[in-house]
Amino acid sequence: MHLIPLFAALAFSTLASAGPNDVVRPHPPQKIHADTYVIHGPQGVPSVENQSFMNNPAWIVTADGVVLIDPGSSVQAGRMVVAQLKKTTQKPVTHVFITHVHGDHWLGNQAVLEAWPNATLIAHPDMIKQAKEGADKFWLDLMSNLTKGYTDGTRAVIPTVEAADGQQFKIGGKTFRIHSSDDAHSKTDLMIEIVEDSTLFTGDNVLNRQSMNLRDGTFKGVIKATQRAYDLNAKLYVPGHGKTSSNRTFIADQKAYFDILLKEVRRMYDEGKSDFEMKPVLAEKLKAYKNWEEFDANLGLQISLAILEIEQE
Ligand SMILES: [Zn+2]
Repeated sequence: MHLIPLFAALAFSTLASAGPNDVVRPHPPQKIHADTYVIHGPQGVPSVENQSFMNNPAWIVTADGVVLIDPGSSVQAGRMVVAQLKKTTQKPVTHVFITHVHGDHWLGNQAVLEAWPNATLIAHPDMIKQAKEGADKFWLDLMSNLTKGYTDGTRAVIPTVEAADGQQFKIGGKTFRIHSSDDAHSKTDLMIEIVEDSTLFTGDNVLNRQSMNLRDGTFKGVIKATQRAYDLNAKLYVPGHGKTSSNRTFIADQKAYFDILLKEVRRMYDEGKSDFEMKPVLAEKLKAYKNWEEFDANLGLQISLAILEIEQE
């Protein structure tokens, strides 16, 4: 009689600790331009179902090697990205750009260094600082919790090379130009432009049909970054989440969403309304966007943050 609960416990613990040697199920890349590939991850938050994987890893095959952007959320996701990358080229990864401190974008670094130990990992100076000061553990724990242990075995491999706004990295005949700020989506954000190809990787400063979790950022900064991405008038935009597009309408849509939200919060704030009174009004005013991923999940938080920013003006 004692065997049944024991088996149940064993089955559960096997499931929960299956992480270290696992690889996320394959997600094939799309070739979006000559030598440029993107895996468009499923949209949403990390979960048991998506095995933590929900961002857009991308790589550019240059004359000298491969430049990888945001290798994913865990060592398990990173290994999947590495396997997919190897199907497109035999060249090694020489450089990795990390768009920001959120773990869904960079905890795959471990898998990159497993395959190419000499790769240089590059990020915003504040990404590196925050990761060293506890964001590493925060994101490892969060990934493990959200996936019920699937990502266990992942270690935080923190970038070592800082990238500054306007800096240009010349790699294998291509120019990687940095557009960064310290007050946008996460306050640690890089957008990366491939000058010769007119491609912009926006990180999470711009999402395609997905409402933004702005817990770590500011409206002021992310609106500025959104405008900057738009004004660049690139031929191709790769957002941090959602589909790649050659049409910048989705960037204008994000700007319009933020503009409506801030304008309405400001109006109701002046009328003395509280956040819970604002929410149904905003849900109505923003109903054109209600099918965006994470719309319901993020609206309340966005209103609270907008009020905080208005109070600081
Ligand atoms: Zn993200």
